Amino acid sequence: VEPGVTPWEGECHAVLRDVFGYARFRGPQQAIVAHVSAGGDALVLMPTGGGKSLCYQIPAIVRHRAGHGVAIVVSPLIALMHDQVGALREAGVEAAYLNSSLSGEDAAEVERRLLRGELVLLYAAPERLTTPRFMAQLQSLHERGLLSLFAIDEAHCVSQWGHDFRPEYRGLAALHERFPDVPRIALTATADALTRDDIVHHLQLQAAQHFVSSFDRPNIRYHIVEKKDSVQQLLRFIRDEHTHASGHDAGVVYCQSRRRVEEVAAQLAEAGLRALPYHAGLDAAVRQRHQDRFLREDGLIMVATIAFGMGIDKPDVRFVAHLDMPKNIEGYYQETGRAGRDGEPANAWMAYGLQDVVNQRRMIDESPAADEFKQVLRGKLDALLALAEATDCRRVRLLAYFGEAYGQAGPDGLAAGARCGNCDNCLQPPQTWDATEAARKLLSCIYRVQQASGSAFGAGHLIDILRGKATDKVRQYGHDRLSTFGIGTQLGESEWRSLLRQLIARGAVRVDGGPFATLHLAEGARALLRGEATVRLRVPSTSPARSRGGA
Ligand code: ADP
Ligand code: ZN
Repeated sequence: VEPGVTPWEGECHAVLRDVFGYARFRGPQQAIVAHVSAGGDALVLMPTGGGKSLCYQIPAIVRHRAGHGVAIVVSPLIALMHDQVGALREAGVEAAYLNSSLSGEDAAEVERRLLRGELVLLYAAPERLTTPRFMAQLQSLHERGLLSLFAIDEAHCVSQWGHDFRPEYRGLAALHERFPDVPRIALTATADALTRDDIVHHLQLQAAQHFVSSFDRPNIRYHIVEKKDSVQQLLRFIRDEHTHASGHDAGVVYCQSRRRVEEVAAQLAEAGLRALPYHAGLDAAVRQRHQDRFLREDGLIMVATIAFGMGIDKPDVRFVAHLDMPKNIEGYYQETGRAGRDGEPANAWMAYGLQDVVNQRRMIDESPAADEFKQVLRGKLDALLALAEATDCRRVRLLAYFGEAYGQAGPDGLAAGARCGNCDNCLQPPQTWDATEAARKLLSCIYRVQQASGSAFGAGHLIDILRGKATDKVRQYGHDRLSTFGIGTQLGESEWRSLLRQLIARGAVRVDGGPFATLHLAEGARALLRGEATVRLRVPSTSPARSRGGA
């Protein structure tokens, strides 16, 4: 494949115009469809609403016209398959799906059309794809040169680090092993570096060209508030920001548990809002009815667990609220991304509290996972917490988490002074205190301890040293004799931890996985130790001096 040379470009553009009725490609679509049509492998990272579907639909059509046969689209979402196949058929494209919702007879008919080479696109669930029966059908197509492309949607499902791990996705590696010459395109709306590596590794996409779009959703305004009386806070937020003469906007309210979904839905209804519950414990028919109403009617609020939302394309969701903290930034980004798909202003609002953190940590601690895995989960939770506690631009941090710089990066790797002007911290800067000196103490302590003992230690131990607590362990290592022993008595344990999270989020401290989660200095420490950067922390809400408008 010669990515630069693309005799397909004109073809792709004609399909965009004639089949889909669009005048122009959006963002990187043009480069992607040209590359994939020409037979290249691709990994596409594009935010929700960015236009991923065309990235494989156009190459599928172009390659079919060139006699290459059918494109197989792997998708975990039955609802989405229906929608997409419906839309494609309406546009005159021979498309079909195979999933558990089809009768045996209908499935047999789809298979017949597939084997006759009539289909341009076939959508299939991952578990069906890797059955011996389906593999044999693919083999037959392949032998006749009629297998044109594999498109793997929601590719992050292959990663156990992701928020939506689906073991069936691991089986998809077999496609590449059996049909190595068939081009593949994997797509996802969310992937941090770890997940991205996992996709490449498990789907064997080492040779794929990466197409990474900006993950910024400029029309979404981020708000994160400390939880006090969360339902009342939510009601105030909806009243202030999303209520107008004719009623209230459509929104989604995410809660952690089914029980809480029921409670909150009832409380919102009591307050006169049009709210419906949605969670996996509800009867399938009720769930479907609520989903249909949410999609069809104006101004409904869906109170839901994260079971709701994947693949639901409602363009005018004006707000997404989290009453409980999600597990990690990817989940937060994905869920908030359901707001404002039409590009009009929308709000992402979250209330977080210490109890959320305690609960999430307990869930991790008590899970049967391996220690190393738990460590990764804790790290991801900490990153989200750091976002919640951040005193500077939320957008800058959110994008930094996905490896994207917003504005110019400063010496500490963050975009110094970059602001989006469309998040709570930009609009109403919070009360903060200068924690730079404390940060230097913490960094020096990590350094001294490592120097003195030749090995690294965890957060609890380091904080004990800073706070001058001569525990058995501290004495055992002689750390009570270090110059940094007791230099940090002015801060409490939770303040030190909060500072530490900020330092981790800024890349000044690195946590090593493994069972002991040891702390190490990282690149970003340099600027702080040299006095070239500062750290500001939010004044804790327990402090009586604190008062913050808007929250
Ligand atoms: P994603 O799967 O990335 O969330 P979709 O493929 O569903 O996004 O596309 C989101 C919306 O944008 C759809 O309504 C789609 O028709 C529209 N869209 C995609 N590409 C273009 C384009 N080049 N021009 C205009 N609209 C587009
Ligand atoms: Zn901002």
